[in-house]
Amino acid sequence: MIAMSLWTLGIESTAHTLSFGLVDSNGTPYPAFSDTVRPDKGGIHPREAADHHKDIANSLFTSLLEKYELSPHDISAVSYSQGPGLGPCLRVGAAIARGISSRLDVPLIGVNHCVAHIEIGRQQCGCSDPVLLYVSGGNTQVIAHHEGRYRVLGETLDIGIGNMLDKFARAQGIPFPGGPVIEKLAAEWLETQHNPSLEGLELPFAVRGMDLAFSGVMTAAQRLIDNGADLGSVCWSLQEHAFAACVEIAERALSHTGKKELLLGGGVACNTRLRTMCEQMAEERESTSHAPPRMYCIDNGTMIALLGFIELQEGRTTSYPESGIDQYLRTDQTQVTWAV
Ligand code: AMP
Ligand code: MG
Repeated sequence: MIAMSLWTLGIESTAHTLSFGLVDSNGTPYPAFSDTVRPDKGGIHPREAADHHKDIANSLFTSLLEKYELSPHDISAVSYSQGPGLGPCLRVGAAIARGISSRLDVPLIGVNHCVAHIEIGRQQCGCSDPVLLYVSGGNTQVIAHHEGRYRVLGETLDIGIGNMLDKFARAQGIPFPGGPVIEKLAAEWLETQHNPSLEGLELPFAVRGMDLAFSGVMTAAQRLIDNGADLGSVCWSLQEHAFAACVEIAERALSHTGKKELLLGGGVACNTRLRTMCEQMAEERESTSHAPPRMYCIDNGTMIALLGFIELQEGRTTSYPESGIDQYLRTDQTQVTWAV
């Protein structure tokens, strides 16, 4: 039994995952309870994902309370992802948050999902003022703090890098999430090579100034497969090209801002090869590269609880009229009033 009785609950529901997480009265995070929708075929359908979240919510929340031996009355604030994300999925999370907050008569805090990735990363890795490489399913951004906001210095102009990996995988019959399987196939292929060319097969480069675009590299990778290339070598090459593009703009962001820490966040930051590439780049620049534990890279309720806790300490709560969702909420729309 955990003695503390003032917990902030965090609810994450931006896309494929519904997750409940907690931080205690010191802001210490506790692993979340999550469930991810895994369609039999095709991609994630927003309404089907929302139905999944609705169906699983009660048992997931009950499991969380049982695991930490808490009663609902131990919860002193409820935080939820207000955006960005898929509308139907966000609405489920917001409705659950409003319900719990009104039932328990505790504050409600709607938070920015992208900022939550940054804050859990800073907290876990002990970074003070990093450049963040945020690589997830729907988002790919390079972010840095400047004058009270997390500013987006570069981002994808089309699809998120995780989405690109998942789509390429799906075309090979690999179910969602495809990213981890691509990582495994690439690593297995590398094992079979005596003298591997690290660039692998030729693919277009995704860098567009400080921005990125991944659909061209995905189409080109598919064309290699269609022309008979080995799947493992294409997975390796796809990772190398896509990750190198992210690392390049992250390096430029470090250079422009003069910051010395790189922080990874988002589901694709689980990838060991990407972590290694970032470490190598940081080392060459006499900087450091950091990545939180994998359970805090993928979407999770704990990071939402942490940001809710931080914002509540700053005196911010969300009234009912303001508690609607915002599918297109931008990283730089949220005022960062706490110390960075
Ligand atoms: P998120 O949207 O932040 O929860 O991240 C989900 C995305 O991360 C999906 O697109 C996954 O395919 C991707 N992902 C998860 N693990 C890995 C991995 N080891 N390598 C590459 N992508 C990954
Ligand atoms: Mg995310």
